[in-house]
Amino acid sequence: MGARATLVAVAQTDRARIELERRLGPSKVLTSPEACATYANDDSDVPGRSPDAVVLAASAQDVALTLEVAERFEVPVTPRAGGTGRTGGAIPVDGGIVLATHGLAKIKEIDRANLIAVVEPGVVTGALHAAVEAEGLFYAPDPNSLESCMIGGNLAENAGGPRVFKYGATRDWVLGLEACLMGGRVVRTGKRTVKGVTGYDVTSLLVGSEGTLAVFTEATLRLVPEPAAIATALALFSDVRGAARAVSAIVAAGVVPRCLEMLDSATLGAVRAAGVAIDPRAGAMLLIEVDGESSEASLMRVGEVATGCEGCFDVVVAQDAAQRDRLWAARRMLSRAIRKLSRHKLSEDIVVPRTRISDLLDRTDDIGRKTGVRNLAYGHAGDGNLHVNFLWDDDSERPAVERAIGLLMQATVEMGGTLSGEHGIGVSKAQYLPLEQSEGLIALQRDVKRAFDPKGLLNPGKIFPSGGHRAC
Ligand SMILES: Cc1cc2nc3c(=O)[nH]c(=O)nc-3n(C[C@H](O)[C@H](O)[C@H](O)COP(=O)(O)OP(=O)(O)OC[C@H]3O[C@@H](n4cnc5c(N)ncnc54)[C@H](O)[C@@H]3O)c2cc1C
Repeated sequence: MGARATLVAVAQTDRARIELERRLGPSKVLTSPEACATYANDDSDVPGRSPDAVVLAASAQDVALTLEVAERFEVPVTPRAGGTGRTGGAIPVDGGIVLATHGLAKIKEIDRANLIAVVEPGVVTGALHAAVEAEGLFYAPDPNSLESCMIGGNLAENAGGPRVFKYGATRDWVLGLEACLMGGRVVRTGKRTVKGVTGYDVTSLLVGSEGTLAVFTEATLRLVPEPAAIATALALFSDVRGAARAVSAIVAAGVVPRCLEMLDSATLGAVRAAGVAIDPRAGAMLLIEVDGESSEASLMRVGEVATGCEGCFDVVVAQDAAQRDRLWAARRMLSRAIRKLSRHKLSEDIVVPRTRISDLLDRTDDIGRKTGVRNLAYGHAGDGNLHVNFLWDDDSERPAVERAIGLLMQATVEMGGTLSGEHGIGVSKAQYLPLEQSEGLIALQRDVKRAFDPKGLLNPGKIFPSGGHRAC
C-alpha cells in the first residue's frame, strides 16, 4: 500500500472509531494499544496483529451498528468469540475492528417440548452442555476446548469433537440463525422445526463460513433427550497399525460408538510424561464410548472385536462415572501435554477415509524421514480425523515444518481426504485450498462471498488463497 493509501486507511479507521464511540459509548470501544493487543492472537501459530479498535458487543443492535459503521468507512471487521481457534480465524490480519461477541452470552430459551435451545454466540459451549443436561437433554457437539470456546466460534468453524462419529458436527445441530451482514442488515435463517425445506439452505451455508459472510447474533439449536446410559473402555495395542485396523473392524461389526478416539505411541508418551499411568506395553490406545439403552451390550461387542484384532492385549472398561471421567481427562489434556514435548507444536486436523488411517500413518512416518520434523498423531479415528502434530524446537526448522505440512496436505488429498475436519481453513491453510478444490469451485465461493460482502471487509484474508490458483 502506498503512503497516501495508508493515510486514507488510517483516517477512515479513526473516523469509524469516533463514530462507534459516539453511538455505542466509549466503554464498548477499546482503543488503547494494551487492550487491543489482547485481541491480536488466537490459539494458532499464525502471527498475531493488534486491531485498531475492539468493539465489545452486548447486543445484536451493537453488532448491526458496528457492521453499518465499518461498511460506511470501509474498515475491515473480524468477528471473535472465545479466541481458541486453531487456524488464525479470529486474527485481524488487515487490522481494523475486532468485533468481540463474548458479551452476547444468554441462553434465551430451552424448550423441552420442542427440543430446542435458543442461544447467543458468546455462550461457552460447556455451559450450554451443563444447562441442557440439567433438563435431561443433550447437545452433542463437544470440541475438546468446550470449557473456553463459544457457540459463535463453533458455528463459524462447524466445530466437531469426539462425538461427531455418532452425532455429527455443529451444523447437524443448527436449525436456524440470526445473523448480521456487512452494512448492518439482520437476517433470520432456517426454522424452529426439525423439518423445513423453504428456499436455499442459508443456515448451512453460514455455518462453517469462518466469520467471512455474516456475524451470528443468535442460534436455534436442536436438542435430543440425554442418552439413557454411557459405557466407556480403553483398548490397548502394541502398535498403532493394530489400533487403526481395529477402528475399521469395530465399524464393520455394525456398532456405532459415540466416540472412537486413537492415540499413537508418541502421544501416549506425552500423556505418561504428564503423570497419567498407562501400561508400558501400550504403543497405541483406543478410547471407545457407546451410549443408549443397550450400551453395555454394545461395549461388550466392541471389546470382543478389539480383542480379536492383531496387537490388542487389553481392554479396560470404566466401572463408574468417576473412572470414565479419569479416562476422558487423559484425552482432554492431550493438547497441553503435547505442548510440553517441544518449544513449538502445530496441530493439523486432516481427514482421510477411515480405512486409510494406516496408510496415512505410513505417509506421516515418511514425511518425518524426509523433512527431519518430529510428528505424532491422535484424534477422532472413527471419523478418519487425525490431529497430526508437528514438533520442533529451533526456529531454523520452520522451513522444514512448512515442507512437512505441504507434504501432509498433498498426501491427505491423494488418499481421498480433506484438509480440515474441524478447525477450518482460516489463514494457515488458505494456501493449500487449491490442492483440494478446483479453480471453478473456489471462484464460485468467492462469488458467494461478494454477494454477502461486496467490499470484502468481513474477516478478510481467511479461507481463500491470496495468490492465483496453484493446484500444487
Ligand atoms: C485445546 C483445544 C482443543 C480443541 N479441540 C477442538 C475439537 O475437539 N474440535 C474442534 O472443532 N475444534 C477444536 N479446537 C479449536 C477451536 O476451539 C474451535 O475451532 C472453536 O469452534 C473456536 O471457537 P471460539 O469461540 O474460540 O472461536 P474464535 O477462535 O473466537 O473464532 C473462530 C472463528 O469464528 C469466527 N467467529 C467468532 N464468533 C463469531 C460470530 N459471532 N459470528 C461469526 N463468526 C464468528 C471468527 O471470526 C473465527 O473465524 C480446539 C482448540 C483448542 C485450543
